[in-house]
Amino acid sequence: MLKTIILLGAPGAGKGTNAKRITKEFNIPHISTGDMFREALKNETELGKLAKSYMDKGLLVPDEVTISLVKERLAKDDCKDGFLLDGFPRTLHQAEELEKIGETINRPINYVIDINVPESVLKDRICGRRVCKNCGAPYHVTNLKPKVEGVCDLCGGELIQRKDDNEEALKTRLDEYHRQTEPLIEFYSKKGIIHEVNGTKDLDELMSDIKEILK
Ligand code: AMP
Repeated sequence: MLKTIILLGAPGAGKGTNAKRITKEFNIPHISTGDMFREALKNETELGKLAKSYMDKGLLVPDEVTISLVKERLAKDDCKDGFLLDGFPRTLHQAEELEKIGETINRPINYVIDINVPESVLKDRICGRRVCKNCGAPYHVTNLKPKVEGVCDLCGGELIQRKDDNEEALKTRLDEYHRQTEPLIEFYSKKGIIHEVNGTKDLDELMSDIKEILK
């Protein structure tokens, strides 16, 4: 079956890390709305400036902006043979609009993978997370250290802490997740396409569970 995939999960569940592994394995584009907003911010576009005002506080960027961004991205040629959405949809309205986009481009979502991680673990993961300023590769101050402190193993870029990776913004992000994103679990359960995985497992073990779902 065509690999049209959504990765669901709370902030810190490991969506980005697993998305990179899955998209490499299946050779499909990794579409992360968070990365797209951060890229727009780096390029100082109007979209970037707008997104920043929400992201820094841990709030969701308004639906209309996010949906049109994804709609445009999914219409590109490289999505013809599948894609993975990381961090989208995050609201029921986004999910409903995604259904319509899927119909238009004739590529409905076939798999939703929900990564489960207990809330106590999320806080440690988020507050200790560091990312490469250049390529976005994720690290952690104790669990996933780079070979040289502050330097990305992959590209030599500087490691930084995301502005929204602090306790205060995390509280808002978790509230947003529970209020707006969690209802998607029921939405996709009703469609019979959701699969739960245990995000506290070792990355290789988790990847083999995911491959089993996607085979
Ligand atoms: P992420 O990198 O997925 O953790 O996203 C970082 C931030 O980008 C979120 O806290 C939101 O402010 C914004 N964002 C990313 N994806 C979405 C989305 N689908 N809808 C609204 N805001 C989003």
